[in-house]
Amino acid sequence: MEYSDATKELLNGAGASIGDHISVTTRGAVQRGMVMPRHMFTGPDILVLKLSSGYNIGLRIGEGTTLVLIEEAKKEERPSSTPPGTGLPPVAFLSTGGTIASYVDYRTGAVHPAVEAQDLLFTVPELSDLCEVRSTVLSSILSEDMDVALWQELANAIVLEFEKGARGVIVPHGTDTLGYTAAALSYMLTSLPGPVVLVGSQRSSDRPSSDATMNLLAATRVALAPIGEVVVVMHDSSSDDRCAIHRGSRVRKMHTSRRDAFQSINTLPLGYVEGKEVTILEKVRGLEKRAAADTRMEPNVVLVHAYPGITPARFSGMTSGAKGVVIAGTGLGHISSDIVPVISKLVAGGVRVVMTSQCLWGSTNLNVYSTGRELLQAGVEPCGDMLPETALVELMCRLARQPGKRGTDAGHRRERHE
Ligand code: GLU
Repeated sequence: MEYSDATKELLNGAGASIGDHISVTTRGAVQRGMVMPRHMFTGPDILVLKLSSGYNIGLRIGEGTTLVLIEEAKKEERPSSTPPGTGLPPVAFLSTGGTIASYVDYRTGAVHPAVEAQDLLFTVPELSDLCEVRSTVLSSILSEDMDVALWQELANAIVLEFEKGARGVIVPHGTDTLGYTAAALSYMLTSLPGPVVLVGSQRSSDRPSSDATMNLLAATRVALAPIGEVVVVMHDSSSDDRCAIHRGSRVRKMHTSRRDAFQSINTLPLGYVEGKEVTILEKVRGLEKRAAADTRMEPNVVLVHAYPGITPARFSGMTSGAKGVVIAGTGLGHISSDIVPVISKLVAGGVRVVMTSQCLWGSTNLNVYSTGRELLQAGVEPCGDMLPETALVELMCRLARQPGKRGTDAGHRRERHE
């Protein structure tokens, strides 16, 4: 979109255009940075500058504003709102929403979800130095609103992007349920010719501490690596030194606001991205020839957190009508022994009941205490060191694919996700 006449006049007067480095003096304050394209939501007399910190600011142009050209952009540095056909490897960006896929309205300072494919390039124009950006806004939701239908749509869209020649696929996603989606895609995508990289940001791009740019650039480098898996790329520490690459079925948001909130649980990260370097330290699945997905999922599965005082009536209410039940049990995998008869009844009625641990770290072991043994006898299936949310999506997939089969799908799990 074009800047207003007054802003254009000021830019033209200094011989400056999009991508050039300029200094702007307005109300006595001087700011230096790169001229960014105008976005549809940028106010009429607001000029957007990208500072050297990567932070974008909007400056109100008024009487007395002066502008000096410092350095013209090299041709290849000029940000463009349309992805150039650069000959670089194509990477598909399938935005789902959340902070990472949002941009700032510089009139009000409000953060909005991205609505247009070009919003991503508007926020991080450096992406087009690394790849041919193929950007699609699949949905524009906060990730607490993610559901099974959207997971299925996303998995199908990923397969389509690989069929259209993408080297890798990046899924910008709200951080709250990013781990659930990563696990769901890990089970749904049965064959991958390139990486599927989920990425989020804990702080939006209007904040100096934003992790959006670094996470997106690191995710793009990982999307070009030979990894045939679903992974998550996020800050590894609270400084801007490196990003970690986590296996999709093994990662969890462990802090509400820290930039290094995502951690691999019960395993090490697969590798790291430091500057331009991608280092893979663990064994990863190689590339397959073609992408394939089995998107069948039984949505009627519940996740129940065990707690002291849970009653059989409450547990029955929570699990009523479910085809599968995942318990995030206490310790090694327990729930009050009062619940055991209810579980026996559920299992006798064909409901699958599996046990994880709310400790997250470590493995279930139902052979140690009497409650554990009673639960085993009642037909509860232990999930080892699987995260509760991973057990949830694994059971959803398993019930849809093999409704009659008992036992956690350990072979499938080991081969693809451990
Ligand atoms: N709660 C929102 C979400 O998960 C915003 C937070 C975020 O994007 O990290 O989508």
